[in-house]
Amino acid sequence: MARVLVIEDNPASMDLMLYLLKAFGHTAFAARDGLEGIEAVRRERPDLILCDIQLPGADGHEVCRQLKQDPALRKIVLVAVTAYAMVGDREKLLGEGFDGYLSKPIDPQTFIDRLKPYICEVNVRPASSV
Ligand code: MN
Repeated sequence: MARVLVIEDNPASMDLMLYLLKAFGHTAFAARDGLEGIEAVRRERPDLILCDIQLPGADGHEVCRQLKQDPALRKIVLVAVTAYAMVGDREKLLGEGFDGYLSKPIDPQTFIDRLKPYICEVNVRPASSV
């Protein structure tokens, strides 16, 4: 089980992700804009961060930049969750430092399965070992 921070400004997407994470036994935290998200990472030290890209305050690109330049935070697995679906977007996000990418809309049937590679990564590479 993992401690998962969700940074998402859309209430319906947020509620769905929190519901699914908790239903599968994970501990879930919520942040509704980028700056709140960065504060929550420092406070909660989650194992995994699911981050929307279009966010008020600091967007997902900025969240990634700030987390990945911080030696204490950069090993926390950071996954972009976004409706961007253009060819090349995934590579662009990975190039920025995101560890993975999930496309929206969230499918309740497959969401937790799609997180499994990142939860495994969490277990292999615990953020607390930084
Ligand atoms: Mn958004």
